[in-house]
Amino acid sequence: MQHPENNPQYKGLNVNKGIAQPPIINPYLSGRKRRQDYSPDDFADGIRKGNITILSQAVTLLESQKEDHQALAQAVIEKCLPFSGNSVRIGITGVPGAGKSTSIDVFGIHLIKEKNRKLAVLAIDPSSERSKGSILGDKTRMEELSREPNAFIRPSPSAGSLGGVARKTRETIILCEAAGFDTIFVETVGVGQSETAVHSMVDFFLLIQLAGTGDELQGIKRGIMEMADGIIVNKADGNNIDRAKLAAAQYRNALHLFPMPPSGWAPKVLTYSGYFKLGITEIWEMVNEYIAFTKRNGYFDFRRNSQAKYWMYESINEQLKNHFYHTPDMETLLAAKEQQVLNSEISSFKAAKELLDKYFKAE
Ligand code: GDP
Repeated sequence: MQHPENNPQYKGLNVNKGIAQPPIINPYLSGRKRRQDYSPDDFADGIRKGNITILSQAVTLLESQKEDHQALAQAVIEKCLPFSGNSVRIGITGVPGAGKSTSIDVFGIHLIKEKNRKLAVLAIDPSSERSKGSILGDKTRMEELSREPNAFIRPSPSAGSLGGVARKTRETIILCEAAGFDTIFVETVGVGQSETAVHSMVDFFLLIQLAGTGDELQGIKRGIMEMADGIIVNKADGNNIDRAKLAAAQYRNALHLFPMPPSGWAPKVLTYSGYFKLGITEIWEMVNEYIAFTKRNGYFDFRRNSQAKYWMYESINEQLKNHFYHTPDMETLLAAKEQQVLNSEISSFKAAKELLDKYFKAE
């Protein structure tokens, strides 16, 4: 058969009759509310139904610097609060390269597939403010988990002080719990102050360590080890198994030198391999054992209550500070006083007092 293009009548263009041009705007959307029309109740209802889109939008509001967003977010948190708390919150730390993402991926999949849990992975990343991008909680780092409908992964909030970022993460925990997530991971890099912030919002603090570097105990900050409820030595696979076991023994010995933690629980040390998925069940068993132990002796509730108290004061401090530094003219006054201090014209204490006096008078 001849191809139609060879026909002299052929114009290269066919106009079909009878097919209506579809409207540019999806007609089915017309009855739906846009995000900015949502009331706190709309958000809270959506979250409680486990609607992940609405949960993400609420977290975005919470992270926003705009005052009206903040007010709305706080109202949503208020509504979600009665439905929160029913989860196991686990803090995870370790130096870059320790295997946090590999382990969270494998551990998370294990919890979802084998234990029927719903998992939210949050992060506190102090470097994200500088780099304007979070290195933690990034979905591409947790490949399998990011495809799981029962996992919610959220990178670190990026703007603000560590205290501000941590507060937002803590509030995100509340929203996630109200949305039905019964297991919360809060990840951080084991290099600075952020561990203290994570420790102040979790039930169990897990430290990922490496073996085979030869200087096991030198690199660890004492404070971080003291906070840990469990230490897990990663990469216990291949030629590395003996070294990992040796490192675990060294950590156990080191832990004996610390006073007994207030929980009454002697921190455990385990070896595992995130990459080869070995020893993962034992980690979850350890967490469960700890939760049961601290629920029996009352420490679980005590820790949560102390954390609530801590966050009340943290919020007050943060807001007071924000208010002070954002008072009109304060920036110019601060710069002027700073210069006077630098020129040794006035003492730091006097400068501070004068600024604060001015602030309180302006109130
Ligand atoms: P993070 O920076 O702490 O998140 O660490 P990653 O999870 O990105 O891991 C750093 C490197 O260690 C990657 O190349 C991983 O493939 C590797 N790794 C992670 N877990 C294991 C493990 O159990 N065994 C071995 N041999 N390598 C691992």
